[in-house]
Amino acid sequence: MPEPDADLDLPPSPEHYVTRILDVVRRRADAPVLRWRDQDVSGTSLAASVHATAAALRDLGLRPDDTVGILIGGNRPATLTTRYAAHLLGASVVHVSGVTPGTSGPGLSLDAQARMLREANASVLVTDEEHAERAAGLRDVLPGLRLLTAPEGSEPAAGSPAAAAAPRRPRTANVTYTSGSTGRPKGVCMPFEGWNATVLWAASAVPSGAAITFLAVSPLSHSVGLVVDIMIAAGGTVLLRDGFDAGTVLRDIARHRVTGTMIGVPNLYALLDHPDLPHTDLASLRQLLYVGCPASPARLARALPFLGHALTQNYGTTEAGRITVLSPADHRRPDLLDTVGRPSPDVAVRICDPDSGRVLGPDELGEVCVRSTNMMTGYLDDPDLTARVLRDGWLRTGDLGRLDAEGYLRLSGRIGDVIKAGDVKVYPAEVEHVLAGHPDVVDACVYAYRDDNGLEQVHAAVVPRPGGAYDADALRRHVAAAMTAKHAPVVFVRCDRLPVAASGKVDRRQVRRLGLLHPRSGSEHPS
Ligand code: AMP
Repeated sequence: MPEPDADLDLPPSPEHYVTRILDVVRRRADAPVLRWRDQDVSGTSLAASVHATAAALRDLGLRPDDTVGILIGGNRPATLTTRYAAHLLGASVVHVSGVTPGTSGPGLSLDAQARMLREANASVLVTDEEHAERAAGLRDVLPGLRLLTAPEGSEPAAGSPAAAAAPRRPRTANVTYTSGSTGRPKGVCMPFEGWNATVLWAASAVPSGAAITFLAVSPLSHSVGLVVDIMIAAGGTVLLRDGFDAGTVLRDIARHRVTGTMIGVPNLYALLDHPDLPHTDLASLRQLLYVGCPASPARLARALPFLGHALTQNYGTTEAGRITVLSPADHRRPDLLDTVGRPSPDVAVRICDPDSGRVLGPDELGEVCVRSTNMMTGYLDDPDLTARVLRDGWLRTGDLGRLDAEGYLRLSGRIGDVIKAGDVKVYPAEVEHVLAGHPDVVDACVYAYRDDNGLEQVHAAVVPRPGGAYDADALRRHVAAAMTAKHAPVVFVRCDRLPVAASGKVDRRQVRRLGLLHPRSGSEHPS
């Protein structure tokens, strides 16, 4: 994603982003705008699909400010064309496919999907063949729900390409479900105007004539959906893949001359560990966006020789969208590798005392609070939680951090994850950075363990370097020397790799469970 000018403000735009996309793809009539599996979707075909889907939705009685549920497996063209059609008609969308980041496991239960559709007040559910049975089950429990089957692959949807009516604008672009830290998925309402303005502005900021081939491996239902819109609106081609596989990503980059992609931090590590990395041609890559959880400065330093020209970190949340950017140029300064970069210029960030709300100064640790055009308007049907998170136009992220004098943000973990080890507050992200800086450690996750007396201890799951001299006592000494003895994990759980949720983030709940499966005494429990 390009960087905005310094004092850019993003006012609502009179233009509709889907109209821009349709204009751009019509000009690219025969060019592949999407590549899905082995099929190309031309500009003409994409535009026809959007119009046909819009006509079909209208025939089903969809009205402005209704909601369209989307239950489509993987990153398919129809996931995008359904959203474009819904937004043209002034309706919002809710994805219930089960790959929504924040949920892990094989998929969402019927009950969970029914709750999401009910809460979002969905009147139509667009589905694919694979989910036809589940969709019918959902209609049984939500009798008013109408079903529409999306085309399987690159074919335009059936139905007449209706004459384009004046595009409408929903209040909410999409309701994104996130499990957050409480477990019960919450519906996050993202405003249409923020999405619209961001796509239009960012697409216009891309230098004209720049060839773009973007590789989408994370779910289109989440933040990559916005990036994909920007790339299409800027005249690019998008390769749609159903998930991340390091070898396939490297092959795709070389074979399709990929210019940009977006992956989770654990996926970045998987790329770095892949034996094909050193001899893969990565010259086409201009932006490798990595997102979602803390990245180890030591591992980033090791990535520089291969990927330094493209490495771009974003810090963001479902609720706030993108908050900060660590650019490729920033990556060349070793002192910045433990930061998440500077606030994106269309986002205001301040650090506040989590209890009193007082605004804190440079280098003071507090809660990261955000204000931007593209942040949520609230949680669906949860005014109490909304009021706790949105205050005076500022969104509380629940993340702890400090801004330095240059405006770079360093994060110390989530407020709820802070470990109270006796009289010391231990911020897991800081200990993880130190552990991952040890030559025998590949990755680490630090978490609180409550002992029989109800007191919190620092525990860590670590992935040792293959062939390295793993020694829990040495790691403990390493942390104690870099921080204090109180920060040194009491228990180490050794594992081959940290569990990763569907979101591409380290799954902390799973890590905790992994730790609990092992006996409590002793200092190291090999897994
Ligand atoms: P989600 O809403 O599922 O996208 O999760 C958002 C949370 O992920 C944030 O509140 C942070 O705790 C964490 N996060 C996202 N990006 C980063 C990053 N670049 N570095 C550290 N933590 C991050």
